[in-house]
Amino acid sequence: MVEYQIAARGIRDQRVLSAMKEVPRHLFVPPPYDKSAYEDYPLPIGNGQTISQPYIVALMTELLALQSTDRVLEIGTGCGYQAAVLAALVRQVTTIERIPEVAGLARANLAAVGSKNVEVIVGDGTLGYPKKAPYEGIIITAATPSIPRPLIEQLAEGGRLVAPVGGRDIQELIRLRKKDGSINEDNHGGVRFVPLIGECGWNG
Ligand code: SAM
Repeated sequence: MVEYQIAARGIRDQRVLSAMKEVPRHLFVPPPYDKSAYEDYPLPIGNGQTISQPYIVALMTELLALQSTDRVLEIGTGCGYQAAVLAALVRQVTTIERIPEVAGLARANLAAVGSKNVEVIVGDGTLGYPKKAPYEGIIITAATPSIPRPLIEQLAEGGRLVAPVGGRDIQELIRLRKKDGSINEDNHGGVRFVPLIGECGWNG
């Protein structure tokens, strides 16, 4: 998976490649799809939600340009796979999931792989988690019509935010960087995510 789907498509950050090798993806994919865990596409995890394609997890992680001392906020925990990859790279990961059953699945998966520096919160991630802000990295793993204002406010000076922004069905992968109080934006191509549902996302 790492050699043919990720490195071959241009992911160069050795720390990201190592983290993707280290985290056992099959433990995050419920049966019967676990047999396809290392294939080049997203898979269902129940409750109408998905685990993201491995390459997209790697790309979004690389775009965050993480340091080992960083604190990261993830919106959209799903099964917890992206959170486990992040946890292998940084000091602390806070991840928010709106569906309690899905958050429970993620907690069990993260415990099974021994990720101790991840806190799973149930709630509306479009509002962020001010209690632990600011964050050097913020990642939204669900499709948002625009970047929720509370998340921009909770991004540290020098911080990076990565998110799929656009329509409910198709989006562009956008990275924001906060520097000297202003925001720079770059675009990393088309992606498809399930919708981000909440006060600063889609209505349902
Ligand atoms: N990060 C996951 C992974 O590692 O595979 C993939 C996440 S899945 C594509 C999107 C998740 O976002 C779903 O579990 C969904 O319930 C969740 N979600 C949608 N809106 C949300 C919101 N406002 N706050 C938190 N989670 C949300």
